[in-house]
Amino acid sequence: MIDDFSDEQFANYKIYLSLIEEKMLNKYFEEQKPYICCKAGCSYCCEKGQYPMSKIELAYILLGFSQLSTEQKTEILEKIKRLKQEKINFESKNPNSVEGFMYECPFLENHKCSVYEYRAVICRTHGLMFFIEDDKTNEPKNKIPFCVNLGLNYSNIYDKETKTLSDVKMYELGIEQEPLAYNLSLKTLLNNDIAKNLDFEFGEVKTMIDWFPDKN
Ligand code: SF4
Ligand code: SF4
Repeated sequence: MIDDFSDEQFANYKIYLSLIEEKMLNKYFEEQKPYICCKAGCSYCCEKGQYPMSKIELAYILLGFSQLSTEQKTEILEKIKRLKQEKINFESKNPNSVEGFMYECPFLENHKCSVYEYRAVICRTHGLMFFIEDDKTNEPKNKIPFCVNLGLNYSNIYDKETKTLSDVKMYELGIEQEPLAYNLSLKTLLNNDIAKNLDFEFGEVKTMIDWFPDKN
């Protein structure tokens, strides 16, 4: 997988990562600071998900993986093997599941990302409110990070009963304008002008676990 990309392509992908952080994500996090409490050691967002990513993103994660200790690599490979089997079991028991198989990221180690500098684009958006377009109406629908229900991000302005942001709580905190939700769909992030101006291809997109062969 790593060999499918040249050093130059990885260098361009690294530039892309720096630019989306500098021009977009860091600004969004800064702007939404009053509602965000992400900190080292908090890892719920890596404990249940599917982590979609393109081929170059996975290859870059593997570059980070190649620098880990033998013990870490063995443990991660064991987790991947176990998850592959769990996914097969889940799908045979739940053939019509809409949500699909959810799992803890195999690169998570003691509540920390073992490949942090190499993590995928979607990982860099964890914690931000975003919007998705409704399939039928194309209307934007705001999505608040799930950890709001754990008393974390956006919980200071969230109403658990109505499951929406609370005007009253915002008023009490002196917040005049509702925080903005951004379009953080992977499709959008991988097809923006920053990516278009750099010489590399993202390649196919799959959920993380699907990138690994059934037997490893
Ligand atoms: S790669 Fe790292 S940041 Fe991304 S889901 Fe896995 S542990 Fe979390
Ligand atoms: S997104 Fe939520 S779960 Fe993840 S680090 Fe931030 S506060 Fe913790």
